[in-house]
Amino acid sequence: MNFLEKRILKDGIVKPGNVLKVDSFLNHQMDIALLDEIGKEFHRRFADKKITKVLTIEASGIAIAYPVAREFGVPLVFAKKSKSINIDGDLYVVEVESFTHKNINRVVVSKKFLSSDDHVLIIDDFLANGCALQGLISLVEDANATVEGLGIAIEKGFQDGGMRIRNLGYHLESLAIVDAMDPITGEITFREQ
Ligand code: 5GP
Repeated sequence: MNFLEKRILKDGIVKPGNVLKVDSFLNHQMDIALLDEIGKEFHRRFADKKITKVLTIEASGIAIAYPVAREFGVPLVFAKKSKSINIDGDLYVVEVESFTHKNINRVVVSKKFLSSDDHVLIIDDFLANGCALQGLISLVEDANATVEGLGIAIEKGFQDGGMRIRNLGYHLESLAIVDAMDPITGEITFREQ
């Protein structure tokens, strides 16, 4: 079992509705030493890739992506959730359905910060149905940039996002893949990797 799987077993809480709460160490209160370890682990897993930018989505992706960008020594860009009706031509725009909030967010990145020269590593905290990752992939493609890989802290393997992204041929690395979780007993089962 790796360091993140151990921490999930210790402090993760299984909620009804297929939600895993990790807010005591990952996306509300943050364990900085753990985030640093996550940054190093993604750097190791994508060491053979020429990365020029790390891309994530606000808000909780930022904390995971920050140490990754620091390890690669490249800028971190985060896609912003925009409420503005008037979207100008200087933005890449995509609509993303939120798994946790069940609403649709319009998500934008300024054209200044992604270009066809970029080799992008996409990072996020969770992968469920894959809407967030597919939105981020589409922003990179709109910029004619290259998706070099995708890194996820926690993939919920019983939802089909991971399968869909891998079937599209992308290099997807998840530090922990939860294959089953039980809201009654709190039991969490990880996929052997
Ligand atoms: P997807 O777009 O893959 O369906 O869902 C991914 C997004 O939903 C992530 O960015 C994450 O913020 C949120 N999310 C999905 N599942 C969970 C979960 O079990 N726990 C938490 N805390 N967030 C989740």
